[in-house]
Amino acid sequence: MSDCIFCKIIVGEIPNYTIYEDDFALAFLDITPRTKGHTLVIPKVHAENLLELDEKYAEKLLVTVKKTQEKLNDVLKPDGYNVGWNHGKAGGQLVPHLHIHIMPRYNNDGGANMHAIVNNPGDESVEEVYKLFKK
Ligand code: AMP
Ligand code: ZN
Repeated sequence: MSDCIFCKIIVGEIPNYTIYEDDFALAFLDITPRTKGHTLVIPKVHAENLLELDEKYAEKLLVTVKKTQEKLNDVLKPDGYNVGWNHGKAGGQLVPHLHIHIMPRYNNDGGANMHAIVNNPGDESVEEVYKLFKK
């Protein structure tokens, strides 16, 4: 997409710090890192989110995440990771081109885990929610 900043990164119109790439995806350092080595992995086709991504790219994406983690392990030797993506406005997505955040974690870095993102489960029990899937 012509006005997408991550599509511009893919074609080289905007500079970036690439640390790994293959035919299907690009991994580059986040310009506003939350941890040392905070990396974004993006498919090399425009898709706002995973649901819009061609399955051929979707099935390759996790392999690229793995290869990128191997690279980060080699160079930065973190103690752990948080990996995930923001989907949609409610999920906090700012850039409308799917990007998987890889956040290397270090012992005693002061951060929290994914459970800290939200804690608002609503009034229905898990069983009631499960029943919605059975209708
Ligand atoms: P979000 O859409 O909320 O998942 O976050 C977008 C992420 O993209 C943020 O972490 C930004 O720091 C990052 N970002 C935005 N523009 C660039 C860029 N030109 N190069 C690298 N990272 C970027
Ligand atoms: Zn794009």
